[in-house]
Amino acid sequence: MEQRHERALLLDGTRIAEEIKREVSAEAARLKAEHGIEPCLAAVRVGDDPASAVYVRNKVNTSAALGLRSEHHALAASTSTAELLALVAQLNQREDVDGILVQLPLPSQIDAARVLEAIDPAKDVDGFHPLNVGRMMLGQPALVPCTPAGIIELLVRSGIEIGGAHACVVGRSNIVGRPLAQLLLQRDATVTVCHSRTRDLATVTRQADILIAATGRIALVRGEHIKPGATVIDVGINRLTDEALARELFGPHAEERIAAIRRRGYTLVGDVHPAEAELVAGRLTPVPGGVGPLTVAMLMRNTVTAARRRRLGVV
Ligand code: NAD
Repeated sequence: MEQRHERALLLDGTRIAEEIKREVSAEAARLKAEHGIEPCLAAVRVGDDPASAVYVRNKVNTSAALGLRSEHHALAASTSTAELLALVAQLNQREDVDGILVQLPLPSQIDAARVLEAIDPAKDVDGFHPLNVGRMMLGQPALVPCTPAGIIELLVRSGIEIGGAHACVVGRSNIVGRPLAQLLLQRDATVTVCHSRTRDLATVTRQADILIAATGRIALVRGEHIKPGATVIDVGINRLTDEALARELFGPHAEERIAAIRRRGYTLVGDVHPAEAELVAGRLTPVPGGVGPLTVAMLMRNTVTAARRRRLGVV
């Protein structure tokens, strides 16, 4: 349910992610009943990064909840590129594995690009293989990166018109900004991509009907960056530990954030200044509960799509 919250309408990513997960679960049940296929996701993690452990656990648990099989391969921090490549080769060969995801970031001794290129493109459920990136660029059927694909679902299912809109993406990473700009272009938006070298950011972003922040910089997007009534999508997931800044960012709603900082040492915040954005934007995604849940939902969808395409040859 979307809820009125001061000025901007909050877009409920959790609700939309649940909707997508229900669809994926129904599709997985159908594949099993009609074809005896059980889609299977293999998640590979190297080292002890606590955030990566949480992400992978979440992906494995969600798979189980939707009726997908999953495997969690946890390798030691000292794993070499050759050892990881050997595991990827094994997973590539297994008929019962439909999706392979190697959780990033990888330890510095591992050649991440080589590992991502070694994944069978048909099983590349993160959509990072150059073949999938190229196919997506050409508008051909591809496994598309989960966060950008989730943002498109969020916009479409919230009834926000993309065609003809001016969409401004702040950030040009291979994981979010670049593919998202491409997907928006394919849906007929006029797209501007901003980045750390953009001059006078606010002048550019203030022209956007749809403004997407994917920078990893806490509260980079402020009221002055937003055109009144615009849709603002906050992709950032940042750990805030500073109570005074929490008070500034959340104004009257700061107390539970400060309680979280005291309880577990941090609260999750985005790249958009929430209190200022609420007063200017027409619609806004919260953090958490905005884009985040959609990423996992789209990973599940990619896994089922990969299973259907690989095993039945159906696009
Ligand atoms: P990244 O560090 O790879 O890229 C950041 C981008 O922001 C760069 O292109 C850089 O040019 C741009 N940038 C940095 N400072 C800037 C500035 N001052 N002005 C304009 N542009 C600036 O980050 P990423 O992997 O794209 O992630 C971005 C954020 O999104 C992070 O907070 C990350 O945690 C989050 N994220 C969330 C999800 C999700 O599921 N919601 C998924 C991936 C990433």
